[in-house]
Amino acid sequence: MLHHKRLKPPPRDFLADEWNVIEKGFHPEFLAQLETVFALGNGYIGIRGCPEEGGPIAENSTLINGFYETWPILYPEEAYGFAKTGQTIVNVTDSKTIKLYVDDEPFWLPEANLLSFDRRLNMKSGTLDREILWDTPAGKQVLISSRRLVSFANRHVAAISYRVTLPNSAAALVISSEMAVNKHAARANANDPRQTRTLAGQILHRRAAYAKDRRVVLCHATRKSGLSLACAIDHVLDTQCAHTRQVSCTEDSGQVAFKIEAQPNCPVQLTKYIVYHTSDMASPEELCARAEWTMDRVAAQGFEELFASQEQYIEDFWRRSDVRVRDMMEDRLKRSTVEIQQAIRFNLFHILQASARAEGCGVPAKGLTGQAYEGHYFWDTEIYFMPFLTYTSPRIAKNLLNFRYRMLDKARERARYLGHRGAMFPWRTINGEEASAYYAAGTAQYHINADIMYALRKYVEATGDEQFLRDCGAEMLVETARLWLDLGFYSDAKGGKFCIDSVTGPDEYKTVVNNNAYTNLMARENLRYAAQTVESMRAREPDAYAALVLKTALEPGEAEAWLRAAERMYVPYDEKLRIIPQDDSFLNREPWDFTNTPPDRYPLLLFYHPLDIYRKQVIKQADVVLAMFLLGDTFSLDEKKRNFEFYEPLTTGDSSLSSSVEAIIAAQIGDVDKAIDYGMAALLMDLADVGGNVKDGCHIASMGGTWMMLAYGLAGMRDNDGSLSFWPRRAPEDNAKLRFPLRYRGQMLEVEIGGEQVEYTLREGECLLIRHETEEVRLTKEHPSAVRPISRW
Ligand code: BGC
Repeated sequence: MLHHKRLKPPPRDFLADEWNVIEKGFHPEFLAQLETVFALGNGYIGIRGCPEEGGPIAENSTLINGFYETWPILYPEEAYGFAKTGQTIVNVTDSKTIKLYVDDEPFWLPEANLLSFDRRLNMKSGTLDREILWDTPAGKQVLISSRRLVSFANRHVAAISYRVTLPNSAAALVISSEMAVNKHAARANANDPRQTRTLAGQILHRRAAYAKDRRVVLCHATRKSGLSLACAIDHVLDTQCAHTRQVSCTEDSGQVAFKIEAQPNCPVQLTKYIVYHTSDMASPEELCARAEWTMDRVAAQGFEELFASQEQYIEDFWRRSDVRVRDMMEDRLKRSTVEIQQAIRFNLFHILQASARAEGCGVPAKGLTGQAYEGHYFWDTEIYFMPFLTYTSPRIAKNLLNFRYRMLDKARERARYLGHRGAMFPWRTINGEEASAYYAAGTAQYHINADIMYALRKYVEATGDEQFLRDCGAEMLVETARLWLDLGFYSDAKGGKFCIDSVTGPDEYKTVVNNNAYTNLMARENLRYAAQTVESMRAREPDAYAALVLKTALEPGEAEAWLRAAERMYVPYDEKLRIIPQDDSFLNREPWDFTNTPPDRYPLLLFYHPLDIYRKQVIKQADVVLAMFLLGDTFSLDEKKRNFEFYEPLTTGDSSLSSSVEAIIAAQIGDVDKAIDYGMAALLMDLADVGGNVKDGCHIASMGGTWMMLAYGLAGMRDNDGSLSFWPRRAPEDNAKLRFPLRYRGQMLEVEIGGEQVEYTLREGECLLIRHETEEVRLTKEHPSAVRPISRW
């Protein structure tokens, strides 16, 4: 029932290419979208795809993960327990500008006569490459080739190689490399809660600024969050042409300008190195010293080495993560196989860019591609893109779980403050404190606790990292289980079942409801996993168990109480419709009038008062349907079908988190058309701007959903019961091929589905047991491959 979805054709088609997203010609009409698409990042530094020359720009952000300012949340009507302090990611010192003047004529894209223009996000090398031939007003041709990278190997480093050649004339060139503290408030739309808040006044205050040789260092700090940032730029100019240079800096800016007597066909090559360091403790001197030390090291290596390490890092990433497709159903998908391959890689590449070096931090909903959602971390991480990372880059998945572990004390504090036992993870946060100013769609989303524990279990089962479970996971399990036990109660009205009232599920179009089915089902998993972990540690690892008791004051009988609550958990069921109602009141609500809701009134949240939306049967994003995917083994195919058919027409998809999940369940129940429609919407969410808001940043959750769609939806992967199995299903006319690697318990498995069969190959490791449908398949180093037939729908 996609009729009310905002599925639109792409605003402009990128050239079909398996490894590159290519823009031919300068397109100012899509400035903001293209800044997002061409953004670079490594999970620590993020730089939007604005041109080197300093403009034109829509949102010129450079973001450092976890670098934020706080502000007091002022409620016109206060109440106990409301989040008190807002947190907003800061648009930090911009350091990528390189201005070019040829005989005093500035190179300014909107006015330049461009003889050719090619900009590409190169997903094989992890760079943003641009090549332009400019015809100056005086008729001189200028070839400008640039390559920008944000280094994966060197967390604190970005670099730009900028090369200017005049093929057949001489000219006086000025190349001015600049950096400046961002003084502009973030672009915000007061009516759109998804966008960022405008922080008033100057956010970054000077601590140090100096220039020497070809280097400038600026150090600034936030006032309230107490964070400091040092940013350094340094340069190497390589040319046979005569040149001079000038270096200067003010409190908030720096400039290194080169004057060059350019000769015909004599290249002028500027390499600009950029370093960012941040800290909540270091003095300005210390932070500047760190930045300089990193700069010395990286400048000594040179750009070629930096580039080589980038290529190597990415090559390794694709080796363990690439999903390859062939012979896609091009007519039905209305996209060529190459375009689909490009979109898949684009999504996976942006997940890497959002998470690779997010050490000690989470991953913002938009990665570091834009300031929307204020740079906050949500459940998007654990439910939507952690599966991809767990199965391809478990080290990154572990970093993210570790980050949650480091938040545990704050989560305990928050639980206490709200009168709960245990720990309550924040719905949205940067520093571990709750940052949601709207409790109904924020704090009330208690399910975040269960989501994190769900991801923990997946991680432990896929990696076998029992040590992490013992050292960190168990403690989080104890505290989250305590929270559920404290929050719920045995209700007489529900026959003594364990009920959880006044919470908000994933669907933010129904808030503060009783017995949200998703929450209850996921809480049940959380309780069971906590009890099982604690019991197994008690029986098998007395030392680790003793340490856990010490850390959590665990009492005998607690695990039993969790199990009892889990076993008696109330899960709503409607006998007449034979479906799971989303919550106790959902089925009593008035239907939403979809027929008279014009397409331009979506997303509803921008056009209707929340009460209007809350009181009707209309859904923002997959809720029960999501539970049916996450807890797949709990439901029969019939149940999935009935629930999907009931909920799908009521789901607006106003959140980008919906399509991928709907595609997976549609695939499981054999609804090929819907699987394709939703699948393509998720796949192209960012490249084709399906939701119309790519300008604000990438939808990292949906990007992770794309991988889940391919692995769980198409390849029929299942991992609900602690083992790995596959139930691939193909539509009759579908001969597409799909190949992807998975890391499981330290070994690497490759799954290749094509035509009538599936082939499992053990690429690394000694021996792996998996299941194909109901059959056990054993892969060994000696016999690494097994081919099995695929059932048709
Ligand atoms: C969705 C949430 C999501 C958030 C950040 C909201 O629109 O409803 O589920 O966590 O966006 O992506």
